Amino acid sequence: MFSEVGCRQLHPQSSRVAATFETARWYVRSVADYVIPEPEPKEIDETLSMELSHLAANAVLKGHPSGDEKCENCRYYLEPTADLSYCWHSKLRILVGAEWWCQWWDAIPDEP
Ligand code: SF4
Repeated sequence: MFSEVGCRQLHPQSSRVAATFETARWYVRSVADYVIPEPEPKEIDETLSMELSHLAANAVLKGHPSGDEKCENCRYYLEPTADLSYCWHSKLRILVGAEWWCQWWDAIPDEP
């Protein structure tokens, strides 16, 4: 590392080098002192959490099957082979798990 004096000796006419060196040293000190804040939920997270809780309550959405009925074999489950998939029921339109269930479960219609 160059010391400030070392920089002046290399460039005795230039105070700009010394100023740059000082700025770099300040920057390194600032970065070294910066403490990454702990993550915490924001207002948007609380809002979305409340909205999704209401949506789940209205659907009587459960994280487990009801007998043989589960998202995986419901007509609204978009990708029947996936562990998680989009539910396209008009009152939900969210990601759900294959083993979940809600009151709007409906059997996959037979192919004509
Ligand atoms: S309607 Fe209900 S049971 Fe059917 S996929 Fe959506 S959340 Fe699952």
